[in-house]
Amino acid sequence: MGETKYIFVTGGVASSLGKGIISSSIGKLLQARGYKVTIQKFDPYINIDPGTLNPYEHGECYVTVDGHEADLDLGHYERFLGIQTTKANNITTGRIYKSVIDKERRGDYLGKTIQVIPHITDEIKRNVKLLGNKYKFDFVITEIGGTVGDIESLPYLESIRQLKWELGKDALCVHLTYVPFLAAAKELKTKPTQHSVKELQSLGVQPDILVLRTEHDLSTNLRKKVALFCNVAENAVVQSIDASTIYEVPLLMQEQGLDETILQKMGLPLGERPTLGPWKDFLNRRTQATEEVTIALVGKYVELQDAYKSILESLSQAATYNDRKIKIEYVSSETLTKENAPELLGHVDGVVICPGFGSRGIEGKFVAAKYTRDHNIPTFGICLGMQCIAIEFARNVLGYADANSVEIDEKTKHNVIDIMEEQKAITNMGGTMRLGAFECVLKQGSKAFEAYGQEHIQERHRHRYEFNNDYRAEFEKAGMKCVGINPESDLVEIVEIPTLKWYIGVQFHPEYSSTVLNPHPLFVSFIKAAIGK
Ligand code: GLN
Repeated sequence: MGETKYIFVTGGVASSLGKGIISSSIGKLLQARGYKVTIQKFDPYINIDPGTLNPYEHGECYVTVDGHEADLDLGHYERFLGIQTTKANNITTGRIYKSVIDKERRGDYLGKTIQVIPHITDEIKRNVKLLGNKYKFDFVITEIGGTVGDIESLPYLESIRQLKWELGKDALCVHLTYVPFLAAAKELKTKPTQHSVKELQSLGVQPDILVLRTEHDLSTNLRKKVALFCNVAENAVVQSIDASTIYEVPLLMQEQGLDETILQKMGLPLGERPTLGPWKDFLNRRTQATEEVTIALVGKYVELQDAYKSILESLSQAATYNDRKIKIEYVSSETLTKENAPELLGHVDGVVICPGFGSRGIEGKFVAAKYTRDHNIPTFGICLGMQCIAIEFARNVLGYADANSVEIDEKTKHNVIDIMEEQKAITNMGGTMRLGAFECVLKQGSKAFEAYGQEHIQERHRHRYEFNNDYRAEFEKAGMKCVGINPESDLVEIVEIPTLKWYIGVQFHPEYSSTVLNPHPLFVSFIKAAIGK
């Protein structure tokens, strides 16, 4: 296509308006026109990455194939576009400063005073352009975290100002704001949007397109008013109304010609409007499904849906491909006991035992694993969930009452889950787990093999502990089979009990690679088994 085009997505008025979904939707629409598109997220916090952040602070930590611990918005980008993101797709202020400071220490700046402008802004610009220059994308969409007006996002907005000046038509800014409805006055209010745009203008950035988040339909008059006050063309004021599913948003944007406005502004040919056939098929299937499949999610962050974002999306995609509506019941692993398990788990179609770290709520995960094993309820243990499945089996089938992971009990005699050799000497917590995609070979005839339909797979990881191979023969003999093995390290990646309907634990995170048009085979097979129950 020639020069890479850069689209910046900023947000105003409030956080949580769905910049990630708008960025993904724009990406989807441009990709559907045959363009090579990627999306990156800039997070203005000082952490190097969200890997060390608590889910209460930041929701789920997503992992890219190249082993980067990333913002959960990258999950949306991958699920919408079916692309694979990398370390270059998620930059934080911490990383920008670290890189600049490392260069300063090396002497790269030849005695200069290092300042926010130009050194920090140059580093930000370098990271924006890197994707375009190095990987030759047609479009690089850059989502700026936070809200316009925040002190910490200033260097990013200054970089956008400079880039818009340098790149002219090859760069544009989409600004997402909020139009509240005042119930008492029965009126939609545009003033917060006007203020937010003024704030952006005061930093030298004129937004080219405004996306107005709203719970009510916005009239033409209201849009005209916003256009007039904000120096934006009328057709460049678009509404983003609450949708029944986030996957509808690309269609709602297409109806309003958002992608066409972008192409027009960037001087690109309009061509035909893409039909988005498979995407619409997915949505139709989703709306047509009426029967429910009920899945219990056993984890310690029940009140925090973002903590299990990718698992929730994977389950709902898999339900759609099984023509079912997903019903999730959150079960706190901190309060789940032998006594209340029948009430909380007895009626569900399947149980997911969630990933996690540390001992809080761990006993409830053992309770879940035992209850579903005893009652033959389809069960999917993910990462720590897989480790819990193995520990419960060791305790109650192999007869090692004190079996544990050394993460939970350092001194356990029966360390069926042990620290990985390569992890023993590590003292720094940031970015030091076994991270990213690794190979796994599946045992023919296993349920896992049946689900994937192939022997060699690659899945993403994020852990420090592993199944202890000293116990492998004993597990196998007692009926829990090790059916997925990493060929290099011999690490057990998948365990299953083949005599049960569907009882599988995976050391990796299949939820990171399930997309709208390519649902993950293990989730699809799990939901299928749950329906069969
Ligand atoms: N805490 C476990 C480990 O580090 C599991 C990690 C996870 O569930 N992501 O091995």
